[in-house]
Amino acid sequence: MNLILFGPPGSGKGTQAKYLEKRMNFRHLSTGDALREAIVNETSLGRKAKEYVEKGQLVPDSLIGSIVRAKLEEVDSGSAHFLFDGYPRNMEQVKQLGGIFSDLSLGDYRVISLEVSDEEVIRRLSGRVSCSQCGNGYNLNYKQPKRPGLCDKCGGALSRRSDDNPETIRERLKVYHLETKPLLDYFAKNGNLTRIQGESDEESVYQAIQKVMKG
Ligand code: AMP
Repeated sequence: MNLILFGPPGSGKGTQAKYLEKRMNFRHLSTGDALREAIVNETSLGRKAKEYVEKGQLVPDSLIGSIVRAKLEEVDSGSAHFLFDGYPRNMEQVKQLGGIFSDLSLGDYRVISLEVSDEEVIRRLSGRVSCSQCGNGYNLNYKQPKRPGLCDKCGGALSRRSDDNPETIRERLKVYHLETKPLLDYFAKNGNLTRIQGESDEESVYQAIQKVMKG
């Protein structure tokens, strides 16, 4: 069974995806990570996507569709179950995903929504930093590194995502409410949605997700 981790920016989708990848053997596909990588590498996709990402707006669906299709085609889909993080983000992408699933015979998917309030999203994103070497995450508001600016694990320099600034955070939340959150009604009608309280600690949220996947 494939899984879509759904929720606003900062709801913990990336964090939970890493746990699920390690402990439940999912293949993690984050469209945000793929876009950031393309931007850093200055590929043609990266050049097209950059201004949307920097403004906190959605990258055009056609570009996102080709990223997702290419990532899924890289692996032997018969033996993998996929975890989508940050995709789909609007109704057009839901339809696109349906087409890709049927072309690649990927079966079905389940949706888990991590419910986190706007206040908590702002608190999390405004303090979020990560290690530029090993990727380990910290939060300057509540999970600080032992030495300022340096990773506890590897000593690498900590950096902030360029779209984690107050103006872009507001725009990303606005886009979420306007374009992405309404998909919950669609998933609920299809009967494949489970909502989980996403404000408890990482391990409790993981246990709740695991329970849904096993149930
Ligand atoms: P994320 O890492 O999921 O928070 O995504 C960071 C940014 O990448 C978003 O604010 C969008 O600009 C872009 N992005 C990521 N996923 C998508 C998607 N499925 N559709 C359109 N834009 C996306």
